[in-house]
Amino acid sequence: KNEYDYLIVGSGLFGAVFSHEMKKKGKRCLVIDKRDHAGGNVHCENIEGINVHKYGAHIFHTNDKKLWDYVNSFVRFNRFVNSPVAIHQGQLYNLPFNMNTFYKLWKVKTPEEAKAKIQSQIEHLDIGEPANLEEQALLLVGTDIYEKLIKGYTEKQWGRPAKELPAFIIKRLPVRFTFDNNYFNDKYQGIPMGGYNKLTDGLLEGTEVRLNVDYFDDREHLNSLADRVVFTGKIDQYFDYRFGKLEYRSLRFHHELHGKENYQGNAIVNYTDREIPYTRIIEHKHFEFGTQPQTVITKEYPQEWSGSSEPYYPINDVKNTDIFKKYRDLAAAEHGVIFGGRLAEYKYYDMHQVIASALKKAAETANQMASA
Ligand code: FAD
Repeated sequence: KNEYDYLIVGSGLFGAVFSHEMKKKGKRCLVIDKRDHAGGNVHCENIEGINVHKYGAHIFHTNDKKLWDYVNSFVRFNRFVNSPVAIHQGQLYNLPFNMNTFYKLWKVKTPEEAKAKIQSQIEHLDIGEPANLEEQALLLVGTDIYEKLIKGYTEKQWGRPAKELPAFIIKRLPVRFTFDNNYFNDKYQGIPMGGYNKLTDGLLEGTEVRLNVDYFDDREHLNSLADRVVFTGKIDQYFDYRFGKLEYRSLRFHHELHGKENYQGNAIVNYTDREIPYTRIIEHKHFEFGTQPQTVITKEYPQEWSGSSEPYYPINDVKNTDIFKKYRDLAAAEHGVIFGGRLAEYKYYDMHQVIASALKKAAETANQMASA
């Protein structure tokens, strides 16, 4: 009999939740991660008492009461509400697009006036079936919002002109005719008090975690330690890239410590001008209403993914989706291996979604064990 029931590759939310659920069932899990910390992309680094979201701003939100209770059983979440603002040509606008934004843009005070204004900008457009992202966005929100708040940001985000981006990237744009700056519509929202490490540490408590261990450096030996493998790394790498590499969009984070209490007065400020190379500045202390004498900000620069930089956003176009499907078929036939999480499923998952997916996978696995 092997030393462990499960070898779990990756200590992100998928791996951490899966291992926690298996531990509850009395299973022995070994979690490995190639990074020097656990928690995957939700990991925070404490700098001057501030929890810095090392891999980009993370705001937890869900409509699912059970899931909310689940995460709150490891750490209490605070009352943070995401209300980003955007800067265009030195002017501030509230997001998501709502009555505050419309008032600032056009001085309109009622929903009727705002709707009429947007309609008047869409009406004269001579666009049939939108052929690209620009046309799609114009049809949804009109010229002003598109030019000032969407175009530059999106072009930076994807590294190409909006006219060359496919329309499907923007299926809908939230437009709200109330004075409500809350970015999300979900019932539950917040940040773990004390940072996300409290959540992932809680999930991994009592489980052996080995850091700085890359599965691909020692694959056979690691496989031999456990009966089954849970793989949350890149699916194309697992299969030696035999159908080619899956592509991603990457990001570069530039963290700065400032000797002042408050840099921008908000957790997230978007920069929508094309000429400014970053898309947003995050001021981390505001996620937890911090009162530290200093502050840490992060500038987020979108960049091409080189193959060696961090893979952040999957490119779900036809080409990559076709390649992924081939890997997915191989994965389905791979005996004794469970594939899960954003890299193995080549899918953008929000945190609540990846947790739900790991809980589901763990429950299915437990059922299979029970019926075996
Ligand atoms: P990961 O967190 O990536 O974990 C995978 C782990 O596997 C990593 O630790 C990695 O080091 C390890 N690994 C990979 N390959 C190997 C290997 N070969 N050997 C050993 N270990 C390996 N979600 C929200 O709900 N709200 C937000 O506001 C939000 N903001 C986001 C902002 C950004 C910029 C990004 C990129 C994502 C955001 N998300 C947000 C999504 C969130 O980050 C994911 O849902 C979550 O991190 C996915 O967890 P995971 O376990 O699938 O993957």
